[in-house]
Amino acid sequence: MSKIKVRASSWGGLFDCAMRWEGQHLLGMSMPVGIRAVLGTALHASTATYDRAYIDHEPMRIDDAASVLAAKIHTPEYETDYSHDDLTPKEAESIGLRLHHMYCEQITPTMHYVDVETTLKPFDIDCGGGLTVTLTGTMDRARVSQLPHDPHPVIPDLKSGRAVISKGEAKTKGRSAQLGTYQLLYEHTRDVQTGGAQVIALSATSKPAVAVSPVFDARRVMVGTRHERGLIEHAAEMFRSGLFPPNPSSIMCSRKYCPRWSTCPFHE
Ligand code: SF4
Repeated sequence: MSKIKVRASSWGGLFDCAMRWEGQHLLGMSMPVGIRAVLGTALHASTATYDRAYIDHEPMRIDDAASVLAAKIHTPEYETDYSHDDLTPKEAESIGLRLHHMYCEQITPTMHYVDVETTLKPFDIDCGGGLTVTLTGTMDRARVSQLPHDPHPVIPDLKSGRAVISKGEAKTKGRSAQLGTYQLLYEHTRDVQTGGAQVIALSATSKPAVAVSPVFDARRVMVGTRHERGLIEHAAEMFRSGLFPPNPSSIMCSRKYCPRWSTCPFHE
């Protein structure tokens, strides 16, 4: 009998380079983050503070919630390598403040949030052959939105970065693994059927922009259909065999992002 825990936010990485994922999540290898990752964490925290107040009907000034952003950037919770990215903490704060305002002014009022930073119950999936995969995750990066009288809530997830918007639209490619896991976990926790997921993109460039994708069914990618296996089944094969294939074509295959770089022969 073996049991493997997989955090929702790590699913995308498993299918990007499984060997890197094994290093990070099963072998405990880690490396410092860059200021762009710190900016992403700070944006999630400041906008979640604002949304929480919005849900609780306790009006909060956008600038007050923004103080969370500045604190997170200047006192990061993870080991940070300031030479990693092309931004100084001051530049990151400036971009972050503009995105925080755009989000609170343009996005929050259009959503029907009912939950933010929900704690989710772990979900055991029996994959056969004595293997159980346990999905875990707090929705620290996702919200729950539900239209009045619609029984099916939607899971919107914030994504920040340089390439999250293309031609004015929030990119959804490669997001289904994480968002589908959130859908499954939320359904398991609240005993409801979700109506899908969507990406809220915060473009962290010198010309900050925000965009919201249409709602899409990310859950289907995880569980599969009558004709296609889902990602959970593909992952179970890797866990059962212990074979985690490398992917030297990954855009994250770099000494900046991979803790296995110095010992991995496949990137040569
Ligand atoms: S160096 Fe590249 S191929 Fe090797 S584990 Fe890291 S990301 Fe994967």
